[in-house]
Amino acid sequence: MTMTGSVRRSTRGVRQIAMTLPWFDEREVVAAAAVVQSGWVGQGARVAEFEDAVASLVEAPYAVAVSSGTTALHLGMVAHGIGPGDDVVVPSLSFVASANAVRQVGATPVFAEVDPRHHNVTAATVEAALTPATKAVIAVHQYGTPADLEPIRALARDRGLALVEDAACAIGSVHRGRPVGADSDFAAFSFHPCKVLVTGEGGMIATRDATLAERLRRLRQHGLGVSTVDRHHERSPLTEHYLETGFNYRLTDIQAAIGVVQASKLPAMVRRRRELARRYHELLGEVPGLTMAADPEHGETNYQTFWVMLPDDYPVSRDTLLRVLKRHGINARHGIPCAHEEPAFSDLDPVSLPVSEHIARQSLLLPMFHTMTEDDQQRVAEVVCGTGSDPRSFLE
Ligand SMILES: *Cc1c(COP(=O)(O)O)cnc(C)c1O
Repeated sequence: MTMTGSVRRSTRGVRQIAMTLPWFDEREVVAAAAVVQSGWVGQGARVAEFEDAVASLVEAPYAVAVSSGTTALHLGMVAHGIGPGDDVVVPSLSFVASANAVRQVGATPVFAEVDPRHHNVTAATVEAALTPATKAVIAVHQYGTPADLEPIRALARDRGLALVEDAACAIGSVHRGRPVGADSDFAAFSFHPCKVLVTGEGGMIATRDATLAERLRRLRQHGLGVSTVDRHHERSPLTEHYLETGFNYRLTDIQAAIGVVQASKLPAMVRRRRELARRYHELLGEVPGLTMAADPEHGETNYQTFWVMLPDDYPVSRDTLLRVLKRHGINARHGIPCAHEEPAFSDLDPVSLPVSEHIARQSLLLPMFHTMTEDDQQRVAEVVCGTGSDPRSFLE
């Protein structure tokens, strides 16, 4: 059985290049099957093992598994006591889950601008968005590019604000020589299929705070004071108490078993993505004015997503280029839209975020996955470079 799956043939015979694909092989199949055969499929020993694996990968003292990156962010708001009347600074240029977490506790997102070089918030853009009601900041490591955290941490400390890192995309990224999540009060990772490390659905919170970790374990499990494993191993019946109102945000052992295998592959996955990125830089460097995902000064990206931004004088619109790519069997996507321009947030005070809005209009996401070949990349580059220099021959 092969599961590389990098190519598919469409009915028209054009070899399709996927936008993103998990890197699975027999090892994930065997691990998931073993859990099913064991009969214990809920949160148990495999989840604990996956937590240990991620804690050691990101060099964090504690890691708490949850059902998704979104539920991790929601717990970030709950655990910091954010609620109605509170403002939370969050970039508009992020997946909507970042701002939704704020809404889910009844607080108000206040959208911050991003830096045009790395598409992340900075201490200056966060500071510009502060209000007297600000209680927390969500700093997103967008597409795996680490945000410049040190100054943001200092700002949060000075103003007494909680700092939640949305590291959904950033497992394996590096911030000032340390893995993203290593020195965090709260970093939320995602294992959704479009991320680097994949469990289907799944999330993890890395923290250096033991008390917070214990509370998160309780909150993910209905507020229960005893873990399922402890309850199972106890000889006499335990009296269990629900210590606060919690949630069902558990990961399953089936997902975690896949996660343990994926965690062992993370260094190879990041290495491969960085090779592919280097090649994209060579191939696409000839398009004048085109900017691309790259390492920021303060760290290294895992290239979870390879974004490019078209110069304003690129001969066709971003959406036209996406259609041309599609016709050539290449599945690219437009960059994430700005949350402040989405109907879901139209009730908020209007803001103008010219950098974010420009990025949202001009950026696209190119295929990037472990089993992508050099030929695949060549084909992508031919369309992007060719349309840039001689659009008519590609638009025909
Ligand atoms: C993917 C993503 C999320 C949500 O993660 P899920 O596991 O899909 O819930 C949150 N924030 C960002 C920036 C993401 O890219």
